Amino acid sequence: MKMQLAEIAHAVGAINDFEEWRSVSVTSVAFDSRHLQPGGLFIPLTGEQDGHKFVQSAIDHGAVATLWARDLATAPVDFPVIQVADSLKALQDLAQYYLSKINPRVVAVTGSNGKTTTKDMIAAILSTQFNVTKTHANFNNEIGVPMTVLSMEPNTEMLVVEMGMDRPGQLDFLSKLVSPDLAVITMIGEAHIEFFGTRDRIADAKMEITHGLSDDGIFVYNGDEPLLQERAADLTQRQVTFGQAATNDLAATDIQGTATATTFTTNQWPDLTFTIPMIGTYNVNNALAALAVGNVYRIRPESAQKALQNVPLTENRAEWLQSANGAAILSDVYNSNPTAVKEVLAAFSKTPVTGKRYVVLGDMLELGDQADAMHAGLASAIDPTAISHVYLVGPHMVALQQALAQQAPDLAVTHYESADLAALSADLQTILTPADQILLKGSHGIHLEQVLAALQDSS
Ligand code: ATP
Ligand code: MG
Repeated sequence: MKMQLAEIAHAVGAINDFEEWRSVSVTSVAFDSRHLQPGGLFIPLTGEQDGHKFVQSAIDHGAVATLWARDLATAPVDFPVIQVADSLKALQDLAQYYLSKINPRVVAVTGSNGKTTTKDMIAAILSTQFNVTKTHANFNNEIGVPMTVLSMEPNTEMLVVEMGMDRPGQLDFLSKLVSPDLAVITMIGEAHIEFFGTRDRIADAKMEITHGLSDDGIFVYNGDEPLLQERAADLTQRQVTFGQAATNDLAATDIQGTATATTFTTNQWPDLTFTIPMIGTYNVNNALAALAVGNVYRIRPESAQKALQNVPLTENRAEWLQSANGAAILSDVYNSNPTAVKEVLAAFSKTPVTGKRYVVLGDMLELGDQADAMHAGLASAIDPTAISHVYLVGPHMVALQQALAQQAPDLAVTHYESADLAALSADLQTILTPADQILLKGSHGIHLEQVLAALQDSS
């Protein structure tokens, strides 16, 4: 990007006299002084730490100007400063201004799961024909969304933004900030149910992504979810549904999985077989969402097919790795919830193996009152004929251990306390052979990445 300070000052509602600096040119923004690029504008945010304290570091990294939400007497002297009432609001205002200046089509993506994957797939498909900017990694909140907007090259034609949500009102805000042309909801799961109480309330909060949708915008959603169907009926905008049910506008007709990839056909283009380099029916849903978006923008299905086949994988999402002794590890250790565990178990249990299949499951966090019931509910997703031993970690997994004792009494199940990851790792190291496969899945707070590291460590 390239903006002059006068333009920025106007966009953020500067309250000081910045005239002498009006023609200073800014080429990027950063709120973390360590990530500031030469030519950048520093935006000191106030979170756990007060960003204003790092202005000198920003200057050392090449900042050419800074916002300032403090008394000017405390600002660096002889340095371009734009004083604002609130620096987060200023960041958001600046993003909104820059968005209207570049004026790309905006696709906003939310959902309990699958946001990042779907965002990456949409961007891959749209990139076959347009200049696309997408959310970097998982940068999906009140700070991440404006930062994504400000990361656009001036020639951006399509902006694909991931939007996260952990309380009501958040998506209302983010959606109105970027006024999407297309709003996508991947699915409604149980993530954050601790806070929301019911899936109905989660669905209500997710629907807020349509609040900034223009009248001629389009709502793309998972039509297998009745909670979304009901709510979509109240919208005036055009709608496109995707999912497994044949009634969806875009439906998967034949899904086949291998150890590393999944293929499917669709009702729309029955002659084309799509391949995605990842496992799980849930990723077919994500791909359908992306194909639906591509279709709105008239991307040829053959181009979309190629794009999906080569879609770049975001790190640590159900990826196959190897242990030090050559066993195959399906690692999915950064995120967990009931829907996702069931899906990944289904895919893992079908993967061909010569040795044995082992499963390590860590607690699913943030499920509130329903946590134990939801952990116990995983029992039906564990196929004792496919899995040799189940290792459980964390206090809630006791509920699953009990349920398995009832439902699959012959299945070997061992439970570990959260603090016993080293013991678990040692036990796994003694049993794993190169012919075996092991699934690691748990919420990030359980830190199964430590077990992964131990299994991969050859020292
Ligand atoms: P976060 O809330 O961490 O940003 P996200 O919504 O961006 O997550 P992804 O990063 O795409 O989601 O996927 C995270 C995990 O969620 C995956 O590893 C998988 O277990 C599960 N998942 C992904 N897509 C779906 C889906 N459509 N339905 C159910 N589960 C899914
Ligand atoms: Mg994400």
